[in-house]
Amino acid sequence: MQSLKELFKIGSGPSSSHTMGPKRAAEMFKEKNNEADKFEVILYGSLALTGKGHLTDYIIKEVLKPIPTTIHFNLEEECKVHPNTLDLIAYKNNKIIDQIRVYSVGGGTIKIEGQNEENAQNIYPHTTFEEIKTYCKAKNINLYSYVCEVEGKEEITEYLKQVWETMQNAINRGLSTTGTIPGSLKLKRRAKQIFEFMLDEETPEIRINRILSGYSYAVCEENASGGEIVTAPTCGACGVLPAVLYYMKTEKNYKDDKIIEGLAVAGLIGNLVKTNASISGAECGCQAEVGTACSMAAAAAAHILGLGTSRIENSAEVAMEHHLGLTCDPVYGYVQIPCIERNAVAAMRALDSTYLSMMLGKQKYISFDMVVETMYETGKDLSSHYRETSSGGLAKKYCRNKYYNKDMSKQE
Ligand code: SF4
Repeated sequence: MQSLKELFKIGSGPSSSHTMGPKRAAEMFKEKNNEADKFEVILYGSLALTGKGHLTDYIIKEVLKPIPTTIHFNLEEECKVHPNTLDLIAYKNNKIIDQIRVYSVGGGTIKIEGQNEENAQNIYPHTTFEEIKTYCKAKNINLYSYVCEVEGKEEITEYLKQVWETMQNAINRGLSTTGTIPGSLKLKRRAKQIFEFMLDEETPEIRINRILSGYSYAVCEENASGGEIVTAPTCGACGVLPAVLYYMKTEKNYKDDKIIEGLAVAGLIGNLVKTNASISGAECGCQAEVGTACSMAAAAAAHILGLGTSRIENSAEVAMEHHLGLTCDPVYGYVQIPCIERNAVAAMRALDSTYLSMMLGKQKYISFDMVVETMYETGKDLSSHYRETSSGGLAKKYCRNKYYNKDMSKQE
């Protein structure tokens, strides 16, 4: 497993696999081909089907400018290696001087065909929760200490502080911004309205949900508007973890140091999913994005509340288990409907999972590793309609009922 720095990436939304990954690929390709006088980029699979809504073509052109760039949306060819595939071709005097195939594998990470994944090293000696649990038990350390042991306490703490700062800034910006989210859906920003929603008498349950949802909406609306956020584990699922962590800080009065510990534990959970399954909606549906985010947030909350490794595992497992089969069907390919609301529901579900895990007995039937494996198999079985192609589910229904325009180029 790689460093948590590879999982928690600070950057601009709206999509880690459709914006951050292609952006990174275009930057690297431009730097390598500074002689080029023309670029051509071909998008396949989910990138071709939902690239417009996710601003893939826009961000690639922005990076490659002022060199003229043509983008093709190849809707016919299926790429068997990964659904998020793109070809970058550089020309000089109408002759091809370089060509690469890139897979945007989720969370902003890219893999260039024939090369290792962005030179990132596998620094963790263990790859399953079971192995980590056994190691921690033998050394009598908790999961946070384990992360520090592998990554170096000072180094990882410094990085996680930046991550936490970015998450809090996104919440605060999102809560104080109103107006409309960019795109043809013309969605109203609702974080402030939700956060300030008041009944004559507010019950504790409504208060928890109001605050968690307000925080989560704030981050997701920032993401959908191209604001700075943290992949947790992806842009599409970036609202769940910050919402739960900020709730623990503002409502439960936990200090930043403790929150950073929770962030490290959440990162470990996300890393395990990324290593053994997938965090890509295009590969395994929304269970891989929002399901993983919920699992990470539940584990973080469990650590912050002082629960041990076993209860943290239970929390993460319960949170993932009840997202199994969750489809990815973004309307018009925007990371807006159902994504924003879905993050808020997952934030509430994360805390529920943590509290439920406290009540369950010691006997465990389903391990975290088993649920991750199941998620991956389920994702592979999902029809491509439900893996970020916007050709099934809510995306299909909504477009049929409203004003579906088959011409992808006219979606903006
Ligand atoms: S539905 Fe889920 S996986 Fe799909 S784009 Fe939205 S958040 Fe990402």
